[in-house]
Amino acid sequence: MGRTMLSERLLSFRPVAAVARGTVLLLLATQAVAAPAAAAATEPNASVAVVAAAPATGITTANLKLRTGAGTTYRAITTLPKGTRVKLVAKKANGWRKVAVGTSTGWVSGSYLTLSPKATTNALGYVSRGLTFRDKGPNKSSRVVLTFDDCPKTLAAFDAVLKYAHANNIGLVIAPTGACISSFRSRHGVNIAARARAKGQWVINHSVDHPDLRPLSCAAAAAQLKGTGVRSNYGRPPYGAIDGSVECAYAAVGMNIWTWNVDTEDWRVKSRALTVSRAVNRASAGSTVLMHMQWHGFSPEAIGQIKAGLGQRGLKLCRAYRGTDNAGAIIPSPRYLPSSLPC
Ligand SMILES: [Zn+2]
Repeated sequence: MGRTMLSERLLSFRPVAAVARGTVLLLLATQAVAAPAAAAATEPNASVAVVAAAPATGITTANLKLRTGAGTTYRAITTLPKGTRVKLVAKKANGWRKVAVGTSTGWVSGSYLTLSPKATTNALGYVSRGLTFRDKGPNKSSRVVLTFDDCPKTLAAFDAVLKYAHANNIGLVIAPTGACISSFRSRHGVNIAARARAKGQWVINHSVDHPDLRPLSCAAAAAQLKGTGVRSNYGRPPYGAIDGSVECAYAAVGMNIWTWNVDTEDWRVKSRALTVSRAVNRASAGSTVLMHMQWHGFSPEAIGQIKAGLGQRGLKLCRAYRGTDNAGAIIPSPRYLPSSLPC
């Protein structure tokens, strides 16, 4: 599960970087970016379920030296074979982890660890080992939710999808970065988040400029969540990359984590047909499907094909927002998602 979560790629930002000059450095200088001051940190955070899972263990992803201190200059105690399960004891700002293996304790580079959170129950009632308890977010229905991250290539492409979703009573989840929202505001004078909500679509946070939040301190990661970007009670960590300090940051800003359980890898396949067939064939009742606004799943044609393909499998898509009773005309969706999405 952890590896799947990490399959999203920063590469997929290229179309945006090419058109939004000011954004390029922000997007590339991931870990060094100082997040802008929290302009709207006073937003209310009512009815928020705080997830309190802490990673307990990790597994080495390479043969890894266990050292006496947090850096390669420290003496190696032993080499841990790839695939060794370790207990996590402490973490340094430089990403090194203090771990326990059998009777030994020492430090390893966190870059070569896959972390597995403890089994836990969150306030939404999902219980699971690992990350699966939040992969469906607030969708407790059997309908499938299509989610699109990052940034659309053009305003026309974005509007075409919104128009189609609205006309066909489909409720998508959009997760644009703050950098994306800023770039559309400066180029077109529009707020794409507000534009999506006006069509009954759901909009969640995706950080300011898409860093892997794990190497950041809890405070620095929290700044990524409350800086320029979507205000909501749900957010998706870039790359689905989560560890204890990332969870600390989400809890600090009162935001729930919503990942996914179907990854189309649209950024890798670069094909509408493959993206569509993966979404159709990998989804099951209640799935959250990951795609990106800058790739081939994000078009009226692709979404129409996914809807039709799911229909043949007896699955339906989440509907656009019509109020909590799910009756009547489509109305603007709230920025704070209900604890049970009226799909
Ligand atoms: Zn992303």
